Amino acid sequence: MSYDNWKLSNPIDDGYGYDMVSNCCGALLYDETDVCSDCKEHCEPIEDYEYEELQRESYLEMMADGERDEN
Ligand SMILES: [Zn+2]
Repeated sequence: MSYDNWKLSNPIDDGYGYDMVSNCCGALLYDETDVCSDCKEHCEPIEDYEYEELQRESYLEMMADGERDEN
């Protein structure tokens, strides 16, 4: 992996590390559990920047779908 790719996959490089958030709401989890503090459901814990990436991907997918409809 090139340094550029490494940098892209680690957008926050301030030495603080990442918060774990739920994949459903991007909310913090209750301590030592996989329970989302927002919807109170079990979820997949992911890192906060991963959640932002998922959001961006689903947004891009939505845009791509819109373009397909127009063509
Ligand atoms: Zn949730």
